[in-house]
Amino acid sequence: MMRHYELIERVQRYKPDVNEALLNKAYVYAMKKHGDQRRASGAPYFSHPLEVAAILADMRLDEATIAAALLHDTIEDTTATREEIDAMFGPDIGRLVDGLTKLKKIDLVSKKAEQAENLRKLLLAIAEDVRVLLVKLADRLHNMRTLDHVPEAKRLRIAEETMDIYAPLAGRMGMQDMREELEELAFRHINPDAHRTVTERLKETIARNVGVIAEIEKSLMTLFDKYKLRALVKSRQKKPWSVFRKMESKGLSFEQLSDIFGFRVMVETIEDCYRALGAIHSTWPMVPGRFKDYISTPKQNDYRSLHTTIVGPSRQRVELQIRTFAMDSIAEFGVAAHSIYKDHGDSADLFNGHQISKDTNAYGWLRKTIAQLAEGDSPEDFLENTKLELFQDQVFCFTPKGLLIALPKGATPIDFAYAVHTGLGDSCVGAKINGRMMPVITELKNGDEVEIVPAKGQVPPAAWETDRRHRQGARRHPPRHAHGDPQAIFRPRPAHP
Ligand code: MN
Repeated sequence: MMRHYELIERVQRYKPDVNEALLNKAYVYAMKKHGDQRRASGAPYFSHPLEVAAILADMRLDEATIAAALLHDTIEDTTATREEIDAMFGPDIGRLVDGLTKLKKIDLVSKKAEQAENLRKLLLAIAEDVRVLLVKLADRLHNMRTLDHVPEAKRLRIAEETMDIYAPLAGRMGMQDMREELEELAFRHINPDAHRTVTERLKETIARNVGVIAEIEKSLMTLFDKYKLRALVKSRQKKPWSVFRKMESKGLSFEQLSDIFGFRVMVETIEDCYRALGAIHSTWPMVPGRFKDYISTPKQNDYRSLHTTIVGPSRQRVELQIRTFAMDSIAEFGVAAHSIYKDHGDSADLFNGHQISKDTNAYGWLRKTIAQLAEGDSPEDFLENTKLELFQDQVFCFTPKGLLIALPKGATPIDFAYAVHTGLGDSCVGAKINGRMMPVITELKNGDEVEIVPAKGQVPPAAWETDRRHRQGARRHPPRHAHGDPQAIFRPRPAHP
């Protein structure tokens, strides 16, 4: 178990004037309150909040967040109360701990209608203070790291919730490292066989290519020396989950994946990014169609980088990401990197002097989402709007009468028909997408209106849409079927978008 002085030292490394007394007090209080409680592993319970605090210290967060992490399970699991925490640590920390206590009761893999309400609660809690989300994600990360000790049924539920909600949320907030580790841990529990196979294949591939990787790294460094560019080159490998997802979604075999490993080039300034790119492109041919400039046009979650693929020194395709150290911090820590600004507005030097606006896309998204809450959307509206953006692995389509059907990405009209009704699926011979006859194997896109054409002589199940409305009232799950698990949400179509 980590020692208290180690935690203080970690915080001191980025915040020399840390309020040590506050952290000491939180440490002692939480330790006493948890007393001799144990975790599923048999370890003292207090090791958990301590590790959560350590994860947040690695993200360089302020001491209020670290203290809240130490205290995050006290109200729920011990005799501690909000009043007591307010009195001892002030209302700022009290609010954070209170927000986390509320989140703890939220079950996000429940029935759809409840899920909508719970997701709404989650985002409301985050809205009050984004640090609540940071502690919650660190809490989830440590629980996922120690999930082996939890009984199997519960383990699977936690892993699914992590894969469905927390990992995408981390990604949406720009925290790529957090997202990748959560996905990796969840994947291991949700699909152990696939995880084992992909991980082993990846290991073999990397082992086979150690020489090539070193050679490319050396060639890049020599090139940058020649151009007098100060740069750091790091090789990186695709993570098992993203390998598996790509194989599944594109129907590829492992051998067909071309981007198992790639390289990241980090430089001081934006100008250096383009100079490095110029040096690379004038030395090795680029693969057409693969260049992307996310520096001039950042992604929704504030991600910035140049992406390119070249035919490298030994004639193999090499994927490259080029970015400044500041962009790299944002890509790693996302909103957490921004929250450093919020708390220490004067420490712009942390990011090499680049002023990064607090008015970022990730915050913008959060604000917009919260604004919808304030406008009093129904939970289902809210879930739909949020999911559209959060769950990019799903596709949302409509029946001609405007009912929303949510399907896994890549779904076809046949999946759609089965999601509506098994009888409709069995009799489906054609489909109109947005009024036009299309092959039944066409991949559906967000917002498509799908009308299923049943086989001649087969009457579609009587008034199935009325039937669905009835089901909605009864809050029942859609039927599961052979074509995946369409998570249908039933509600009338909104006034035209
Ligand atoms: Mn916890």
